Amino acid sequence: MQHIYSDPTFAMACEQLDLVADYLQMPSSLHNRLRFPKRAITVAVPVRMDDGSVNIFHGYRVQHHLSMGPTKGGTRFTPGVTIGEVAALAMWMSWKCALAGLPYGGAKGGVTVDPLRLSPAELERLSRRYMQEMIPFIGPHVDIMGPDMGTNERVMAWFMDTYSAYRGHSVPEIVTGKPVSVGGTHGRREATGRGVVYLIERAANLLKLELAGGTVVIQGFGNVGSVAAYGLAYKGGMRVIGLSDISGAYRNDAGIDVRAADRHVRKHASLAGFPGAEAIPAEELLLTPCDVLIPAAVSGVIHRDNASRIRCRILAEAANGPTTVEADRILAGRAHELFVIPDILCNAGGVIVSYFEWIQSLQSFFWNETEVADRLFRVLEQAFTAVIKRARDEKISHRLAALAIGVERVMNAKKDRGLFP
Ligand code: NAD
Repeated sequence: MQHIYSDPTFAMACEQLDLVADYLQMPSSLHNRLRFPKRAITVAVPVRMDDGSVNIFHGYRVQHHLSMGPTKGGTRFTPGVTIGEVAALAMWMSWKCALAGLPYGGAKGGVTVDPLRLSPAELERLSRRYMQEMIPFIGPHVDIMGPDMGTNERVMAWFMDTYSAYRGHSVPEIVTGKPVSVGGTHGRREATGRGVVYLIERAANLLKLELAGGTVVIQGFGNVGSVAAYGLAYKGGMRVIGLSDISGAYRNDAGIDVRAADRHVRKHASLAGFPGAEAIPAEELLLTPCDVLIPAAVSGVIHRDNASRIRCRILAEAANGPTTVEADRILAGRAHELFVIPDILCNAGGVIVSYFEWIQSLQSFFWNETEVADRLFRVLEQAFTAVIKRARDEKISHRLAALAIGVERVMNAKKDRGLFP
C-alpha cells in the first residue's frame, strides 16, 4: 500500500510490529491503530544563508501515539532523512518508552540537511526556525524534543531559547539534552553510551564472559559510540580494535587510542586521516571478529548478506534499527553463539535520562550525577531482567521479548482507555 510513510525504515518497523502483533494475537483494530502514527507534521524551513541566499529545508515531526502521556523523541539533522524514517523512529520510541516504563508515547523529528555543510550561524538559524515552525504542535505536556543524530546540546539550547522567547518565560521542560547551565541534567550527554556499557556488562555477566582484555568494534564515533568506547576501553579494560564514522572504517588490532581518536575528530570533524589505525573498507568493519560489536550509527547495517558472517559474542545495538528483519531471523538461529541486546533496550539510557531531565525541569529540583546514574541503572536493570526472563520463559529471541513487552503495554493502555467517542 502506497502512503506518505513509504520508506524502507518504516517498512522494517511495520514488519517488526506485524510479527509482534501475530505473536500477541493482537486484534486487527488495535494493530492498525498502532501501525500508523497519530500525527505527522511537515514544515518548510526557510533559512538565510551566510551568502544572503535563502534555502528551504524540509522538516518533520511525527507523534506516534498519545495513550500514555505526552510524546517524546529526538530530532535528527541528516541529509537523507524522510518522513517515513522519522515515523519508524517514532514507533520504536513508543516501544522503547513502554519497555522502560516511561509515561510517554514515541515521537521523532528531522530536518533534511547535512549539518557539517552549515556554518555555526546557519546551523543556529536553521535550528531556531525549525523549532519556531513546530511551536503550534508541541509543548511540555504535549510533545517534548531531544537530540539525535546531527544535533547536540547547543542545538537543544537554541530550541529551548526559541520556545521560551515565544512564551515570554523560560520553559526548560520543552526539551531534553540541553546544557546543564540552562536546566539540563547531569549525565544526559553520556546516558545512552553509559547505558550501552551497563547492558554489555550485564550480558557478559550472564555469559560468564570476561570483558577485560577482550575486543570491541564500534560503528559510529559520535555521542553514543564515543561514550561507549571510553567506557569499555578505560573502565572495562577492553581493546577497541575497529572504529568507523561517516568518513570510513579504521582498524588496529593492538587497540585504538580512543582519546587520540576523539582529539582527532574534535580537530578535523571526522576520523579521516587518523594516524592511529589503518583504513579498511567500510563493509569489513562489522565482519571483524571481536567479543563485542556495537553498531552506533545508522539503521539497516546488519542485513541478509552479512548477518551470518558477523563474528562477535555480544551484539549491542546502540543505533536505532541497525538490524533488518531478515537479518534478525538469521541472528535468531545463532542465539547459542551470539547474544543480542536489541536496540529498544540497548539505547534506552538516552530516553530514560531525558525523562529524568524533564521531571527535574518541571520541578526545578535538580539531582547530582550519581543520583542520575544510579536511577538509570535501576531502570535499565528492570528492563533487562524482564526481557531476559520473557525470552527464556517463552523461548523467543531477545528482540521479540523486548518488543512484546513494549507493544503489549501500549496495547493494554489503548484497551483500558477505550475508543473515543
Ligand atoms: P551522532 O550524530 O553524535 O554520531 C553519529 C556517528 O555515526 C558519527 O560518528 C557519524 O560520522 C557516524 N555515521 C553516520 N553515518 C554513518 C555511516 N553510514 N557509517 C558509519 N558511520 C556513520 O549520533 P548519536 O547521537 O551518537 O546517535 C547514533 C545512533 O544512536 C543513532 O542511530 C541514534 O538514533 C541512536 N541513539 C542515540 C541516542 C542519543 O542519546 N544520542 C539515543 C538513542 C539512540
